[in-house]
Amino acid sequence: MSQYTRRLKQWDKEYIWHPFTQMRDWVKDDPLVIDSAKGIYLKDIDGNIYMDGVSSLWVNVHGHRHAHVDAALKKQIDKLSHSTLLGLSNTPSIELAKRLIDLAPKGLKKVFYSDNGSTAVEIAIKMAYQYWQNTGKNKKTNIVHLSNSYHGDTLGSVSVGGIDLFHKVYRRLIFKTIALEGHGWEALEGLEKLLEARSDSIAALVVEPLVQGAAGMLVWPQGTLKRMRELTQKYNVFLIADEVATGFGRTGKMFACQHEGVVPDFLCLAKGLTGGYLPLAATLTTQKIYEGFLFDYKEQKTFFHGHTYTGNPLACAAALANLEIFQKERTLKKLVPKIEFLAKKLKMFYNLPSVIDVRHKGFMAGIELKGRPDDRLGAKACQAVRKYGVILRPLGNVIVLMPPLSISKEELDFLLTATYRAIEETLNGSGAHIYRVSRS
Ligand SMILES: *Cc1c(COP(=O)(O)O)cnc(C)c1O
Repeated sequence: MSQYTRRLKQWDKEYIWHPFTQMRDWVKDDPLVIDSAKGIYLKDIDGNIYMDGVSSLWVNVHGHRHAHVDAALKKQIDKLSHSTLLGLSNTPSIELAKRLIDLAPKGLKKVFYSDNGSTAVEIAIKMAYQYWQNTGKNKKTNIVHLSNSYHGDTLGSVSVGGIDLFHKVYRRLIFKTIALEGHGWEALEGLEKLLEARSDSIAALVVEPLVQGAAGMLVWPQGTLKRMRELTQKYNVFLIADEVATGFGRTGKMFACQHEGVVPDFLCLAKGLTGGYLPLAATLTTQKIYEGFLFDYKEQKTFFHGHTYTGNPLACAAALANLEIFQKERTLKKLVPKIEFLAKKLKMFYNLPSVIDVRHKGFMAGIELKGRPDDRLGAKACQAVRKYGVILRPLGNVIVLMPPLSISKEELDFLLTATYRAIEETLNGSGAHIYRVSRS
């Protein structure tokens, strides 16, 4: 280890407060410091190479340093890095808005930009709420969500979250909501009863369609989403689809809603939008909602919301290039056999006594380990898989596999094998075959 790398590790511990991290534990070890990347591999400052098994926290799509996105960014940087959407517009944000509307379920007509998934959801909630204040005799105010949902970490999105470990401590800071129990038919039953009784007070239902990611990759039974759309439509309640995690091919289609032919009133996008390059989010909505804000200025019914970096040209250029690659490389078509392969190989995890459930939809997979929430078995297994040159990040006792869509079948096979061995060694007592597969 050179003096420089040693110093970097020291400075990390001295100056950085890491997200979702018990820093008392963090500073006991040296951090793994990433310095460069190519394709699905990350390289640390000591020269070790790791497979990016969770797409740098669910954002990377076509691999790191993809030539097409790199070139688009370099081209954009020579023209304009930032200008504002408050009072002005800019080229890439216009082009991207048009592109997103072309791709999204038909019926979504307007794009409101922000910077991250939490704000994409908060914007949808504020718009849905204000729509009813602006237009209604019936000023609906309640927001409904699922009990174990995750929509981000800012207070508005924490309000509609239900993961106790993340959210409980803030309960006096957040606004009141209605939480539905369960995530499949149970939630649906609850929703139907609720809407029957009180739809007059309910502004919107917010969901993570098809897969509840942070809850541990909970996959909904087929038809749940479609039925939610039917019910919300029947009772005149807006449906907010938080596709921050599921969007951009993760479930096998561009958007999860498209599996069930659902057009939500709001579509929230972030994570994969720029292919994992830059922070950018978008909240898409309908003409109807948009028109609910068209009044004489004096009535003060404008949507008074905006972030400083809204519609950032560099981020929009990266997003446009990311979307072009989907077409040029036929990403979704190539994904089909890889999803089949993943589905087949995941079954082998049931051979491990410590595995109690394996769930997946498309390229989102969760392997649940037997244990109590505080056992941190996921963390142990993910630590163990590093010696095979793989980076994973768990959710409690659930190991998450979420590689870039560009991963090859062979690399996917390696990822699964390494994960299998890591679980076997850490939880099933056999520390036998420790080896490292070298790659360049
Ligand atoms: C990650 C995530 C968010 C929050 O996005 P940030 O960019 O971290 O604010 C919201 N909703 C879902 C479904 C997510 O997976």
